Amino acid sequence: MNGIMEDTICAPASGSGGAICTIRVSGPDTMGIVDSVVSFAHGSASASKGGRVKYGTVDGVDEVVVSIFRAPHSYTGQDSAELGCHASGYIIREILSRLVAAGARMAEPGEFSRRAFLNGKMDLSQAEAVADVIAAESSASHRVAYSQLRGRYSGQLAKLRERLLELTSLLELELDFSEEDVEFADRSKLEALLNECLTHIGALKESYRIGNAIRNGVSVAIVGAPNSGKSTLLNALVGDDRAIVSDVPGTTRDTVEESITLQGIQFRFIDTAGIHDTSDAVERMGIERSLRKISQASTVICLLDGTFPDADNAEILESVAERIGPDQHLIAAVNKSDVHPGSSALPGTTGLPAMGASIPGAIRISALKGDGLDALRAEIVAPYDSAGLDDASIVTSERHFEALRRAYDSLSAAADSLSRGIPGDLVAEDLRDSLHSIGSILGDEITTEEVLGEVFGRFCIGK
Ligand code: GDP
Repeated sequence: MNGIMEDTICAPASGSGGAICTIRVSGPDTMGIVDSVVSFAHGSASASKGGRVKYGTVDGVDEVVVSIFRAPHSYTGQDSAELGCHASGYIIREILSRLVAAGARMAEPGEFSRRAFLNGKMDLSQAEAVADVIAAESSASHRVAYSQLRGRYSGQLAKLRERLLELTSLLELELDFSEEDVEFADRSKLEALLNECLTHIGALKESYRIGNAIRNGVSVAIVGAPNSGKSTLLNALVGDDRAIVSDVPGTTRDTVEESITLQGIQFRFIDTAGIHDTSDAVERMGIERSLRKISQASTVICLLDGTFPDADNAEILESVAERIGPDQHLIAAVNKSDVHPGSSALPGTTGLPAMGASIPGAIRISALKGDGLDALRAEIVAPYDSAGLDDASIVTSERHFEALRRAYDSLSAAADSLSRGIPGDLVAEDLRDSLHSIGSILGDEITTEEVLGEVFGRFCIGK
C-alpha cells in the first residue's frame, strides 16, 4: 500500500464555474516536478520552506500562484503544492499534461484523502466526512458532516472503544483466574459497563434514521382520492421554496422544484407528475395509483377529502395504513377545512357531520387557504427532529450504521451469555467482535483494500 504513496499525483481540485482553478500536486517528487513546470520569479519550490506562496509562470500558458506545503504539514501529510491558474479548460489541461510529462500521474478519485488517511492525518470517518462536507446541500447536512470532519464524532467512538476495551480486559482478568475456579470478583460492574456500552451503541444506531434523513433527504408521497386536493397541497407546500429555487441558475425545475426544506432537512415529493392523475376516477375511490407509490416513500401523507363522508375517508385511510411499513411515517390530513358542512360551496355536502371528526389523529387543513399547513409541516418534520441530539452523535453513513448494528448484535450476545452464566471466553469473543466493528468505522483496525476502495472511490477527483 505504501508503494502507491511514492507516486506523485496531480489533479484539478476546485469546482467548475469559477475564474480560478486550483491544481493540486502531492508526493515525494512534488517540488522537483513543480520546478520543471513553473518558472518562479524568485528561487524555486525545491528551495522553499513549507507554508509559502510563490509567484511564477508556466511558459506560454499562464501566470500561477503556487502554495508550497512541506511534509508532514499538508493535507496529505506529504510534500504538496497547489497551483492557482486561470480556470480555462485549455490552461488546466496544459498544466496537467506538463506535470504528467515531468513525472506526476493523474490522481484517482479520493486519492489525496486516501493518502491523508494512510498518513494518519485523519481517521476513516473524518476522511468520509470530507466527501460529505463537499456534497452537503443543506445547513443540517453540512453541520453534521462538519462536526464529523472536525473529529468530534470519532472522539465519541474512540471513547466507546475505550469502554469496550475496559470491558474486555475485565473479562479476560476473569479468564486468567478461571483455572483456579475463581469467580470473577465483580460481575455486576462488568454487567453495568456492558449495558452502558449497549445503550450508547443503541443510541448511535438509532440516530441513523435522522442522520440518513439529514444526509439524503426524505421521500414524501401525497396519496389520496382524485380531487382531494393533492396538487393544491403540493403547490401550497413547495410554493415558496420553488420561488427561491428557480432564481438560482443551474437548478433544474424537475429535480429540485418539488421539494421543501424543513429544519435543514430536504423533503422530496415523489411522483408528482402523477399526482393529479384521475384516469382511474371511474373506480370509486380512485386511489389505486396513489397506493402504488407508498412503497417508495419514507413519509406518506394520506390526504382525505373533507367533503367525503367520514366513513369513506376512514376506509381510504385504512387501505393506506395497511400498506405502511414499520419504518414509514403516515400522516393523515383532512383537506378542505374551509368548506363547512351545510355551506353552499359544495352541493351535496349539506348535513355532513364535522369534517374528519371520526378520523383520529388527522390534521385538518385547507390546502387552498393555507390553514393548518404549519401543523402539517411540523408533523412532517417531527420524526427527524434532531434538536435533542448532539451533532457528534448523529450517524449519517450506511457503512457506519451497519458496523454499529454488528457491534450491537455482538454486544447483545455477550450480555445474553453473561446473564446465562456462559463461560467467559465465549463472551470475550463476542466483545472482540464488537470492538472490531467499532474499530472498522474509524479505520484503525486492519482496513481492507476493499473498504478503502469503497470509501474513497466515491470521492471526486482532486480530493
Ligand atoms: P388532486 O386531484 O387531488 O390533485 O386535487 P386538486 O388539487 O386538483 O384539487 C381538486 C379541486 O379541489 C380543485 O378545484 C381545488 O381548487 C379544490 N381544492 C383543493 N384544496 C381545497 C381546499 O382546501 N378547499 C377547497 N374549498 N377546495 C380545495
